[in-house]
Amino acid sequence: MRTQVAIIGAGPAGLLLGQLLSRAGIDNVILERRSLDYVLSRIRAGVLEQGMVDLLHEAGVSDRLEREGLVHDGFSLAYHGALHRIDLKGLTGGRTVTVYGQTEVTRDLVEARHALDRPTIYEAQDVALHDIDGTSPRLTFTKDGKAHELTCDFIAGCDGYHGISRASLPETALQIFERVYPFGWLGLLVDRPPASHELVYAGHERGFALCSMRSAERSRYYIQVPLEERVEDWSDEAFFDELRQRLPAEVAEAVVTGPSIEKSIAPLRSFVAEPLRFGRLFLAGDAAHIVPPTGAKGLNLAASDVRYLFDALREHYRDHSDAGLDSYSARALARVWKAERFSWWMTNLLHRFPERDGFDGRIQETEFAYLTQSRAACTALAENYVGLPY
Ligand SMILES: Cc1cc2nc3c(=O)[nH]c(=O)nc-3n(C[C@H](O)[C@H](O)[C@H](O)COP(=O)(O)OP(=O)(O)OC[C@H]3O[C@@H](n4cnc5c(N)ncnc54)[C@H](O)[C@@H]3O)c2cc1C
Repeated sequence: MRTQVAIIGAGPAGLLLGQLLSRAGIDNVILERRSLDYVLSRIRAGVLEQGMVDLLHEAGVSDRLEREGLVHDGFSLAYHGALHRIDLKGLTGGRTVTVYGQTEVTRDLVEARHALDRPTIYEAQDVALHDIDGTSPRLTFTKDGKAHELTCDFIAGCDGYHGISRASLPETALQIFERVYPFGWLGLLVDRPPASHELVYAGHERGFALCSMRSAERSRYYIQVPLEERVEDWSDEAFFDELRQRLPAEVAEAVVTGPSIEKSIAPLRSFVAEPLRFGRLFLAGDAAHIVPPTGAKGLNLAASDVRYLFDALREHYRDHSDAGLDSYSARALARVWKAERFSWWMTNLLHRFPERDGFDGRIQETEFAYLTQSRAACTALAENYVGLPY
């Protein structure tokens, strides 16, 4: 088998890159370790920056997003019971975010790829990378017990944090930057209307809480929990009790409870592997970097990497220039680090850190007080939240 661009991973990064390449007439094959059903049922992020919405539009997959996505002009911060609204639209000259689940983005991309009749090989096992330093890299894998080989011009490693692309590189080729936080987020999804029509991020002495949503009828709630907590130990009732205690009274009263349709714990981590290019292998999305979900940047960063990588590949095939491929790593990383900084800052602003002392507590309170009093501070928060320009 031969293709121009071999993509490892059918997450949002791999599917979006495949869709843009296919529409530009660039041949590509996606290899995915999991089944199609598994990929379609994964529940993760849900807040899209305007840049990602525009990219989905360019990829021809925005019809349902435009119909069903909820455009949000702002969100609220809560701190020890006080609420403060961040007017995203007013503070950024009209920019907004759109609430539309990653599950829906994935479904739209899978359907679009199917309509274009482009190949995705699901349940591709033991994917291995070869000759990434040469001009004709190869992937080997097994499918239904049979060995296969895929040769290509370039490999896009879009296989997430636990993927094989980054893991195939010698340790000396990478510089790793990492911060592991001493807590996780316990998330609950419920088919009940959201407590508030905009997101509420709450800092509280019992820990962080977030009221989010996937649609006007489906709510997503999170509470900060210690890393050693087990999801089986949290009944829906215990979750909602704890959530309400961390929210301002008017928000807590508006929480509509119901049976959870999903409940899971996600650890929080900041992680960047540099650089994003090795010979003919290009890393994109979670394969190269992770942010804590505070700030809603993970999915959006996968999209911005794809924006740069797609432009570079198109330039290679259409304009016979490798300038974009040569600058991909530096350009993508410049934006990645700004989102890393913002996600780290917002995590620090809103979470309870077990090892912190009274001084840290006062700094956190003062940071919040400053936000409630300074339009400049709110503007800095808002411009990062809606997404910095590509
Ligand atoms: C539990 C959880 C909750 C999250 N919540 C949020 C949130 O609320 N807000 C937010 O902004 N972000 C959130 N994120 C982050 C966001 O979902 C990711 O940033 C986003 O999925 C990145 O997309 P990706 O395509 O780079 O990677 P992924 O979505 O991880 O896709 C990688 C794909 O590669 C496949 N793969 C892996 N290894 C191999 C292999 N060896 N061979 C072939 N295929 C392979 C995987 O099966 C997967 O389909 C969350 C992440 C997790 C894990």
